[in-house]
This record gives sequence, C-alpha cells and structure tokens, in this order.
Amino acid sequence: MARVTPTPLPAEVPFPDGSLTAQELVRYSRHIGLSEVGEDGQRRLKRASVLIVGAGGLGSPAALYLAAAGVGQIGIADFDTVDPTNLQRQLLHDTANVGQRKTDSARARLGAVNPLVRVETIDEELSAANALDIIAGYDVIIDGTDNFKTRYLTNDACVLLGKPNVYGSVLRFEGQASLFATPDGPCYRCLFPEPPPPGLVPSCAEAGVLGVLPGLIGTIQATEAIKVILGIGETLAGRLLLVDALAMTFRTIRLRRDPGCPACGTREIQSLIDYDELCAPHATVPGQLAASVHEITPRDLAERVRRGDPIDLIDVREPYEWRMARIDGARLIPLGQFEGAVAEIPPDRDVVLYCHHGFRSRTAAEFLVERGFRRVWNLTGGIDRWSADVDPTVATY
Ligand SMILES: [Zn+2]
Repeated sequence: MARVTPTPLPAEVPFPDGSLTAQELVRYSRHIGLSEVGEDGQRRLKRASVLIVGAGGLGSPAALYLAAAGVGQIGIADFDTVDPTNLQRQLLHDTANVGQRKTDSARARLGAVNPLVRVETIDEELSAANALDIIAGYDVIIDGTDNFKTRYLTNDACVLLGKPNVYGSVLRFEGQASLFATPDGPCYRCLFPEPPPPGLVPSCAEAGVLGVLPGLIGTIQATEAIKVILGIGETLAGRLLLVDALAMTFRTIRLRRDPGCPACGTREIQSLIDYDELCAPHATVPGQLAASVHEITPRDLAERVRRGDPIDLIDVREPYEWRMARIDGARLIPLGQFEGAVAEIPPDRDVVLYCHHGFRSRTAAEFLVERGFRRVWNLTGGIDRWSADVDPTVATY
C-alpha cells in the first residue's frame, strides 16, 4: 500500500461535513457569486477529492488552481525530486527546492496557497500493484504524467474504477487535453490502443517544451476537474482539444468510444499490467533497429576507450547541450547538420554516436547504415546513462 501522508487540518476547519465557515465564505466569495457555483457548488468543491498524478509541468498549475478553488482534498502522487531543469515550467517548485522531493515542495506550496485544503502526498511510483488502491480514494483523477507507462496505467485504472480521468499532454509547442473514462465517453485507449514502440515518440527531455504550454494545458485540466465536480458546462468528454501555441489555435476534434477498445469497449482488460517492457524510455529493442546498427552500453564504450580502440565518437545533440555536458574525445555534429557532414566521417573506422538518451543518435546511426557504413554503434541511454554508469562528473540535464 502506498505511503500517504496527509497534512494536519487546522483545528477550526470542519471537515469533511462540507459546511462553509465564515472564513471560507469570504475566501471563495468570487465563486459563490457565480450562480452556476453558489454556496452549494463551493460545498461540493470542499467535499471533493482530486488526485493529481505527477507534480510536474501539468500537475503544477492544476494543483495550484484546485487548491485555490477550495477542492477539499488534493492528492499528489510523485516519486521524483526537484531538478534544475524542472524550474522552467513546474511552478509548484522553487529554486530553493532543488534536490527535495517534489511531494514535499508541492505540499509546502499548496499549504501556502490555501491552508484550508487537505493535501495528501503519495511518494511512490504508480504501479499495477498500487494504482487501484490509490485511485479508488479520489473522485476525479488528473493525468499529469509525462510517460506512456503511467498514462496507460492511469487510464486503465480509471476505466476499471469508473473515475473521470482528466487527460493532458504537451510536447514542444503543442498540447492536448480531454476527459476520459466518463460513463459514456471514450478512454485514452480508444484514441491510442497500445503504447508506441520505445523511441518512436520523443519525450519533453528529448524534444523540449515551451514552459508556458503545460501551464495552459494544466489549467485546462483544472477547469475540467472543477466542471466535473460541479456538474456544470460542457466537458471535454468525447472531444480532444488540440492547442498549437505557435499558431495560437485551439481546436477540438470529436472522439468516439471504440467498441473494440480493450479497456472501455470489450472490457478484456480486467486487471492492471505494468508496461515497463514496452515503455521504458531507455529501453532498447534490438529487433526494431536497422539490422546493422549495433548498440553499445556506456560501460562497454568506456572499456573500449580504455583499451585505446580507435573510435570516432560523434555527439549529435545541439550546441547548447554540448556546452552543458559532453563526453571526452567526442566531436559535435548536430543531427540537423548530419546529412551534410557524412563526407567527414571515415567509413573504415568504428563510429559511436550518442545524444541525450539515445533516440536521436539512433536516427543518425540508421542514416549511416543506409549509406553503407557497417561499423556503427549507438550509445544506449546516451550521455545521461554515461553520466550514471561511467562518469558522474558529466552533468545531467
Ligand atoms: Zn476505451
């Protein structure tokens, strides 16, 4: 069972009977003045519980707005610590929180925003073993995850338990949101029946994300959660909202429940499974690689370098990444310039390509193989794993 740590409630706040104190009537007066909310609606919010899976870019604005709105019980599930690269968009966490557990900084920040709500933290990775237990304790779930494993797990658990799942995702300048697993609506699997193969879809760490974009989408998720709790308006159930921040367009497309969906259609998914093998971001699946692209682990590469093997070590990341961290002896050819630089790569030498996590370099490796190179290796896990397994003085980001 998950470790759940609730914040102690101030003694003067009655909970969870839902009646509003004088202090709350003042605090929420701009809600109560809305006829669609009113005192009844504010009491509903106070009695409601929302679980936010992931205290990251999406979870930050969602949690801040739900706390400010007076949602009585807010669960934050995250097992990560605050990293300097988080601060560009994850507003739950301050510079001073770097290195701390995200659940700790989230609890402190939400407590400062609204001490009248109860914050529960779950410092554990959502898994097939604990997801049903955790999710069962909440009325509405906000999916603020950044990986397919947790997204499918959250979806399947919400469908099994009949919990509304407020979905959001962001990458680069684009975002999506919807409401899944409502009684008649589709679920995430209706849209994407199976997780994509590893490496096919880049992560935000690989492809980047404009910092305000999770702010936009996470705020939309909070809006949808509040509408579900209050039973007002038209939710995104059966619609997928597509946001393009560069064009600044918001459009929605219709989604239908797929009768063949294994989760909400045929209901063949009766219990949760872990998707580690399918979705591990650093996994390598040799069968899916071009036949002549070999993988080499950082430890094996370090051993070859130590032996003095002549290796052309090529970094295909961007120049700003090269400035942050690099592997000794490498040279930089950013992926975008790779095609034009092939003539500079001697075909008779062993070539090892690397990037941040091993996805971009695999593309470059396949490109070389297609052009007749036969001695090409991709560094599994990229410089990130090199730092973890070989040289911790190489900065991670
Ligand atoms: Zn479905």
